Amino acid sequence: MVCQCGHQDHDWETGICKFPGNCFCTEYKELKSNQSVIPQHRRYLEQYSKIEEKVKYILDNIPETRDMKNKDFVFLYWDLVHGLNIINNEVIRKLTDPESIRRCRQALVEHEPDKYGPTKEEFVYEKHLKENATYQYVMEKYL
Ligand SMILES: [Zn+2]
Ligand SMILES: [Zn+2]
Repeated sequence: MVCQCGHQDHDWETGICKFPGNCFCTEYKELKSNQSVIPQHRRYLEQYSKIEEKVKYILDNIPETRDMKNKDFVFLYWDLVHGLNIINNEVIRKLTDPESIRRCRQALVEHEPDKYGPTKEEFVYEKHLKENATYQYVMEKYL
């Protein structure tokens, strides 16, 4: 269950959010299905300066990203961190290097596969087959 602040871990006695960064949520309120926590996640991500920290935040707080292909993960990162909605040369120059995002994610997955690795068996298999080709495709198409 996710709170309206975007985090899952709250002190059930006091309601205070246990998110290790700065979250000022003092009362757990369950997220309703028509609400989005993306704007909140964008604000928390601004607290971090390092790519590793941002990648870790995304994997920790948006668990479905563990099963994303690199291409999708990179685009989600750009969307959350850079507010990407159009692609042109000027925008592309400002974006975080996709290779850096991929490397940071890879390092987290290798270090703690149970926490950051894919949750579905078929994805693990598919990943080996497709990861390189997909990534190559993004690099060629957009960069
Ligand atoms: Zn909260
Ligand atoms: Zn919170």
